[in-house]
Amino acid sequence: MDSNDLSIHGKVLYTGIEKCPVCGRESLHVIEILYNDPVFGDLILYSNKCDYCGYRRVDIHYLNSRGPTRIIYEVKDDVDVYKTYIFRSRTARISSPELGFDIDPGPDAEAMITTVEGLLLRMIDVAERMEVLNEDDEESVRRLREFKEKVQRALQGNFRFKIIIEDPYGNSIIKPPPGRDLGVRIEPLNPSA
Ligand SMILES: [Zn+2]
Repeated sequence: MDSNDLSIHGKVLYTGIEKCPVCGRESLHVIEILYNDPVFGDLILYSNKCDYCGYRRVDIHYLNSRGPTRIIYEVKDDVDVYKTYIFRSRTARISSPELGFDIDPGPDAEAMITTVEGLLLRMIDVAERMEVLNEDDEESVRRLREFKEKVQRALQGNFRFKIIIEDPYGNSIIKPPPGRDLGVRIEPLNPSA
């Protein structure tokens, strides 16, 4: 996502050009955007991008953090697919038992702001790359194709599934389409679970 697109749903707090921590040039675009959400409260998004070397960093800070949380939302139709926004911080794990994926935050993980559609398209991308890597393994290819089919159905709003975000710092949110806020379940996250 282009950092310019990020301001659509929020208020720009700061924008400027700073020194890039990687190449040292004054070519780092810094933007901070405040998002206000009626259910979750205020969230600040930091986006840094260097025009010269391509260095990029996106992070989210949730001002009204509830501490370690698990957020669950069931995607029921195409409105949910196209109009639900996911703000996943760098430390959060995102999964869906029905679709069968589980993305752990790696050490270089970036924050992710996307619609459910964007997330599903990413899943198809990953499955396609894995299919190429595992082309000699019939069983893996079969499972990956099954997974892609399910994700395609989900994209059309024909497959109900839950999205679960587990964030030890409570910096992530799921923002459903207008009028569907009550569908979001927020639970305390037990660190040992
Ligand atoms: Zn740079």
